[in-house]
Order: sequence, then C-alpha cells, then structure tokens
Amino acid sequence: MSKLKAGIVGAGISGASCAGALAAAGWDVDIFDKARGVGGRLSSRRMEDGWATLGSPFMSARREPFRSQLREWVRQGWLEPVRGKIWRGRATVSWTQAQLQNHFRPLIEPSQLVRSLLGSAHLHTQSLVTCIAPRTLVLENGETRGDYDCVICSVPGPQCVPLVAGLPRLHERLLDDNQYRPVWSFLMRWEGGPDAEVIQFDDELLNVAVSQIQGGGLWAVHSTHAFAETYLDAGKEEASTRAASALMGLLGLPWPVEVEAAHLWKMALPTSQQGGFWLGDRENRVALIGDGIAGAGVERAWESGTRLAQALVQAEQELAMS
Ligand SMILES: Cc1cc2nc3c(=O)[nH]c(=O)nc-3n(C[C@H](O)[C@H](O)[C@H](O)COP(=O)(O)OP(=O)(O)OC[C@H]3O[C@@H](n4cnc5c(N)ncnc54)[C@H](O)[C@@H]3O)c2cc1C
Repeated sequence: MSKLKAGIVGAGISGASCAGALAAAGWDVDIFDKARGVGGRLSSRRMEDGWATLGSPFMSARREPFRSQLREWVRQGWLEPVRGKIWRGRATVSWTQAQLQNHFRPLIEPSQLVRSLLGSAHLHTQSLVTCIAPRTLVLENGETRGDYDCVICSVPGPQCVPLVAGLPRLHERLLDDNQYRPVWSFLMRWEGGPDAEVIQFDDELLNVAVSQIQGGGLWAVHSTHAFAETYLDAGKEEASTRAASALMGLLGLPWPVEVEAAHLWKMALPTSQQGGFWLGDRENRVALIGDGIAGAGVERAWESGTRLAQALVQAEQELAMS
C-alpha cells in the first residue's frame, strides 16, 4: 500500500509536532515554512557570546503528555527546570515547588528543540505558501505541491485567513473570532538590579524580564500588550528607548541600559481559542492547528499538532480494518 501524504504549512511547534507524529506513523510528510529556519515564535537570536530567546522564554507543562516530552528533553540536557529567584513588584520571592515542576527553560536554541520533533518529515524552508486548496498547496513562486491526503495549516489565524479563502467553512470560522495581541521583545544588558533570574513587573508598559543563560547581564524583556499596541507602528529605536527608560525607572538602574535587539511580534498571543485541538474540513481534507485554534501557549500548540496526527492515524487504521 502506498504511503499516505500530508502537506503542512508552518514549522512552529504545532506544525513540527504534527509532522513528526505523522512521519513516525509512516506518512510521507512535507512541511513548509516561509522563514529560514524552524521554530516560529520559539525563536532566538544569535549573539557574539551565544544565543538569547526573543520569543517564548519558557516552556510550561501543566499535564501529560507534554510533561513527558519536556522530561525527555531534560534527560537529553536540552532543557532545565527554572530555578532561582523571581522578583515581583518590589520583593524577591522563590519559585514554589509547583512552579519548579512545571516551568522549564531551554539550554539549546529553542528552534533545535522544534527541529528535533520533525523526525523524517521533509522540511522546506524559505517556502511561503500563498494558497491552500483541497489536497494542494501553492507556493509564492507559483509552484503547486499536491496530491496530499491531508493539508494542514499551523500558522496564526490572521495569516491563515487569506490562505483558506477558497474553503468557505474554515474561512468563515476564522473570520468569526480570530484576534491576536502584540508584544515588543527586547534583548537588554544592564548591571545591578534585583538579585533574581526572572522579573515580573506590575506595570502598564513592561511585563516580564528573563535573564539569559550565557549571563553577562543579558536579559530578554517583554512589553505588555498595551505598550506594543501603542508602539505598533514605531521603529525599533523609538520602542527601545521608551522600554529602556521604563525599565530604568522601575528597577532604579543608572545608565546605561543597552538594547541589543528589538522585535515586534504582531501576533504574539491569541485572545481566544476555537475550542478543541484542531478545526477540520473533512470533505476537502484540510485541517487547521496551532495556538489560535487550541489556545495560547507552547503546550496547547504542541498538543494541537500531536492530537490531530493521532486522529488522522486512527482514522487511517479504522479505514484499513473496514
Ligand atoms: C514574546 C512571546 C512570549 C511568549 N511567552 C510564552 C510563554 O512564556 N509560555 C508559553 O507557553 N507560550 C509563550 N508564547 C507563545 C508561544 O510561543 C506560542 O503559543 C507557540 O510558540 C505557537 O506555536 P505555533 O506552532 O502555533 O505557531 P508559530 O510558532 O507562530 O508557527 C507558525 C509558523 O508558520 C510560519 N508561517 C506563517 N505564515 C506562513 C506561510 N504563509 N507560509 C509558510 N510558513 C508560514 C511562520 O514562519 C512560523 O514558523 C510567547 C510568544 C511570544 C511571541
């Protein structure tokens, strides 16, 4: 019997977990990403002295089976539980035992964790998909990739809307409720400040700062959604200057706070979820996954990919038995 084929748009953690699970079950999987590498919002920036997280700084597992996945990555030396102190508002507190069990930070670039999920799936980077049709994907260069038994789209909802314009059932569901909020993410270096690994601000402009594993006073600092909405059209310099000055005020730091990188995530986190782990159009063999469908966060995104893969494999087995 010939292998079943899947074409997946997006190699973030949801697309990659789906691709790997299908490939492990014997499917022939193509996965396309418009970027130069994998990872999506689990992104990092190469620095002179290593790398630093620009996207999600943590991975948290609230339940199985993602807990087992993270434990496996800890065993491989790729993740470690978050330890140390967290500074909240004006005081330093210790992580509770429950937080320590559930919160992990990467010791290797997060994109490598995502890549490890792909297994034997065929990865196509710098491949922007412009249209999804039944069994078919169209790439920016006009190339059509087809004959898929299932086409899966894992990109944030607003980016997915134009891709599925020819599939009314999915298109209408996405138009109904499909909002994301932005975050500005900065890499900043400073000396002094609280003796902590994580700073949670109680502030209108800044949300959180996480010290980076290579040390040297380098921190990933994330704005609030409100800050990012105010500075949505601002340049990097303007947003960086405003964020650095807010930070100095909050922590009582003297100059200089150096801003080494800034990135605006226009679609950082979804404000709602569609309910369930995926959204499917069975007749046209197209399914949507990712955090916009399953809910915000790395765990939900991973689950949405693996759960869809399990359902597809189960449907295939039932068909074979009937
Ligand atoms: C600043 C920030 C902080 C965060 N903090 C946390 C946190 O502490 N804990 C937590 O659990 N979560 C956090 N998150 C959220 C978490 O990162 C996401 O929920 C998760 O990574 C989403 O994965 P995904 O696979 O659904 O989507 P994505 O990672 O967005 O993957 C989608 C992929 O699709 C690709 N793509 C898009 N359009 C196309 C196209 N037309 N053709 C081809 N490819 C395309 C993109 O390049 C991308 O690689 C944070 C996110 C941000 C931005």
